[in-house]
Amino acid sequence: MDASSKIPQTDPKAGYLAHRDAIDAAIHRVLESGWYILGSEVEAFEAEFAAFAGTRHAIGVANGTDALVLALRAVGIGQGDAVVTVSHTAVATVAAVELVGATPVLVDIDDAYGMDPAGLEAALRDDPTGGRIKAVLPVHLYGQAVDLGAVLDMAERHGVVVVEDCSQAHGATWQGRGVGSFGAAAAFSLYPTKNLGALGDGGIVTTGTHSIAAALRALRQYGWQDRYISETTGQNSRLDELQAAILRVKLAHLEEANARRQAIAAAYDQALEGLPVERPVRRSGAGHVFHQYVVALDDREGLREALRAQGIASNVHYPTPVHLQPAYRDRVPLGPGGLPRTERCAGRILSLPMFPQLADAAVERIISALRKALAR
Ligand SMILES: *Cc1c(COP(=O)(O)O)cnc(C)c1O
Repeated sequence: MDASSKIPQTDPKAGYLAHRDAIDAAIHRVLESGWYILGSEVEAFEAEFAAFAGTRHAIGVANGTDALVLALRAVGIGQGDAVVTVSHTAVATVAAVELVGATPVLVDIDDAYGMDPAGLEAALRDDPTGGRIKAVLPVHLYGQAVDLGAVLDMAERHGVVVVEDCSQAHGATWQGRGVGSFGAAAAFSLYPTKNLGALGDGGIVTTGTHSIAAALRALRQYGWQDRYISETTGQNSRLDELQAAILRVKLAHLEEANARRQAIAAAYDQALEGLPVERPVRRSGAGHVFHQYVVALDDREGLREALRAQGIASNVHYPTPVHLQPAYRDRVPLGPGGLPRTERCAGRILSLPMFPQLADAAVERIISALRKALAR
């Protein structure tokens, strides 16, 4: 790599170019087939993704937000219910809860940026919505499973259902088993920059329960069980054949892509040891697939600027917690104790460049820029 070229924080086009011939062939195959919505490519992708995730069923949908909405609806969450989730997440997580008519209850995070079990326990015990909490929606943020042992145990003790948000964690594990196989249902976004990304919008829901899978298949297409007869009120949230065919190519390479992310993370870990910056905390029991490699420090803007001066992009996931954003501020209930860790982290985190095609020479350039910037 030319030493002056820019290094992006993420690069979905590189993910296309890495498998260009196979993807072009897949696209051509669909165009020639004359069948463009819910056909053999979607069916094959669903079967392949279910096998990958270690679940019995996978149902392709239009995007990750819809995957969350339909997963919540399929497990029976709706108007008048409340769902515990986090504020330190993509806004879509919280938006999905409100889209089904439920109230989000936001709890704080632990030092590995996942739902804090103590915050969850307090919310379940002192339910600020007066007994309406029916589900927990943990987010495996940045590619690392939350403390699923604690979350599943508390949910069971309080009789609430678990729906996982796996949108940043395709291939992540908890105690050796894939995320998306623990909750009653789990939602994955297939947005282009995710670990498994389409070349457009896409999403998929996994479940081990036949009746939930059947509900999802109906909900994604007007509530139909048989064509033209709506058994329930559904919507249109279908995955198309082009995206499914592309995703099949990329799914076949997902394990090697995640391994490359882990190798880049290991190089960052080693380079940052002893420097005045917090490295990502590895949660014991979790197999991390590094959707993002996130560092934390007080002078986040200083580091960001120093990297930018060297042509290296970085990003912040996310600069404003959901409960402080204009649409949600002072409106969405918080768990007991508020969200001090969420608020502190939003001002200190920085996501370094992370994508499977990031070359060793680029990683070296990033590392020397980090060392220089942090040596002051
Ligand atoms: C990307 C993402 C979503 C939303 O997915 P879309 O496909 O953009 O609708 C939801 N939750 C999390 C944690 C995400 O990262």
